[in-house]
Amino acid sequence: MFSGKSEELIRRVKRAVIARRSVQVFKPAIDDRFGSELDKLEAICVVCGESATRTQRIVNGVPADYDDPIIVIGAQEAYEARCRTCHTVPRRATAPA
Ligand SMILES: [Zn+2]
Repeated sequence: MFSGKSEELIRRVKRAVIARRSVQVFKPAIDDRFGSELDKLEAICVVCGESATRTQRIVNGVPADYDDPIIVIGAQEAYEARCRTCHTVPRRATAPA
């Protein structure tokens, strides 16, 4: 207690938000010191500016194909926060009609 755990958690959450990562923080239901909260933190879609709910994997400057390997040696890889509309998965098989 009073060792700075909460401050460290808040620092880490803020850091993840700045890095456009999705963040979820939970606390016990009996802990009502800061409200009964649900405080959803969401990233901003880098394409349109709406709330981002997905992470877009970018390989060599374009969205990764559905069947791209998880690890691509030598590729420039990045992740972007994107909304449902702007998130794409090229070459994903579509469900039969
Ligand atoms: Zn968007």
